[in-house]
Amino acid sequence: MSEFGTVGFVGLGHMGAPMARQIAGHGYVVFGYDVSEVAHGRAAAAGIEAVELDDVAKQSEIVILMLPDSNAVASVLGDARFLDALSEGALVIDMSSSDPIRTRQLARDVAERQVTLIDAPVSGGVAGAEKGTLTIMVGADEAAFRRAHPVLKTMGRVVLAGPVGAGHTVKALNNLLSATHLWVTSEALLAGERFGLDPQVMLEIFNTSSGRSGSTENKWPNFVLTGSFDSGFGASLMLKDMQIAVNLIGSTGVPGSLGAEATALWARAVEDLGPRADHTEVVAWLRDHSVDQPEE
Ligand code: NAD
Repeated sequence: MSEFGTVGFVGLGHMGAPMARQIAGHGYVVFGYDVSEVAHGRAAAAGIEAVELDDVAKQSEIVILMLPDSNAVASVLGDARFLDALSEGALVIDMSSSDPIRTRQLARDVAERQVTLIDAPVSGGVAGAEKGTLTIMVGADEAAFRRAHPVLKTMGRVVLAGPVGAGHTVKALNNLLSATHLWVTSEALLAGERFGLDPQVMLEIFNTSSGRSGSTENKWPNFVLTGSFDSGFGASLMLKDMQIAVNLIGSTGVPGSLGAEATALWARAVEDLGPRADHTEVVAWLRDHSVDQPEE
C-alpha cells in the first residue's frame, strides 16, 4: 500500500481522467468509477483502476467527484451504494463546476452522516489537467482545506476562496467572464476579417493591448484559427456555468444585464450546435450567422 494513501475518483471524463492520473503520479493509489465504459477505457489508458462505486467509497478516505453538474453530484451522493460504503469522517471533494446553492445544501445533508463535502472546481482546461497546472478554487473551512490540500496540490495551484460553496461561486463567475469575452472577441475578429483584416495580425495587436484575454491569447490561436475546435470543454457545460452565474448575480441585486444577454445568445448557439459541441464552436456558429451586406 502506498504511503500516500488511497483516493477515490468518480467521473473519469475529459478532465477527470488526466486529473486522476496526476494524483496517481504523485504516489497515491487511485480507485476510479464512471457510469460510462468509454471512460473506463480512458482511465485504464491513464493507469487508473476502475472499480464499482461502493468499492471507491469503501477503499478511500478522500473521494473526488468530477461530474458534469449538481444533478450528477446529487445522484452520486444520494446513492446508497456510495453513502453507506463511505467511512465515518470521509472527505468528499466536488471538483465539478456545480451550483453553489445546491453544494451548500448537499454539504448539510451529508454532514448528518458524518461526511464532509467541500468544493474545489478548477480552471485551466484539459491541457491544465494533463500538465497538473490547474487553478483549484476551494470552498471549505480551514480544517477540511488542510486535509484536502496535499491531494489537491498534485493537480495544480490551490487557492482557498472561502467557506463551502465559495469555489463553485467564483468558478461560475469566472466562466461567465470567459464565455462573454469569447463571444465579443469573436464578433470583433469576424467583423475585422470581413472588413479585410488578417485575424492573426489583429490578435497580435490585441495581445499587447487592452483587449487581450484568454480568448485572444489561447482560444482563438489554438482552437479557432487552427480549425480544430477541440478544447475538450463542451458548449453546453459552459452554458450551465453561465446560467449558475446569472442566477447568482440576480440573487445579489446587481444588475446583470450583459451577462444575461450573453447567456441568452450562448443558449441559441447551443440549441443549434447540439449537446456534444465544443465551446469554441460558438465561433463557427457566429461565422455561419454572418450575412453578406450589399456593396456600397
Ligand atoms: P465530461 O462530460 O467529459 O466528463 C464527465 C464524466 O462524468 C463522464 O465520463 C460521465 O460518464 C461521468 N458521469 C456522469 N454522471 C455520472 C454518475 N452519476 N456517476 C459516475 N460518472 C458519471 O466532462 P468534463 O469536461 O470532464 O467536465 C467535468 C466538470 O468539470 C464539469 O462540471 C465541467 O463544467 C468542469 N470543467 C471542465 C473543463 C474542461 O475543459 N473540460 C474545465 C474546467 C471545468
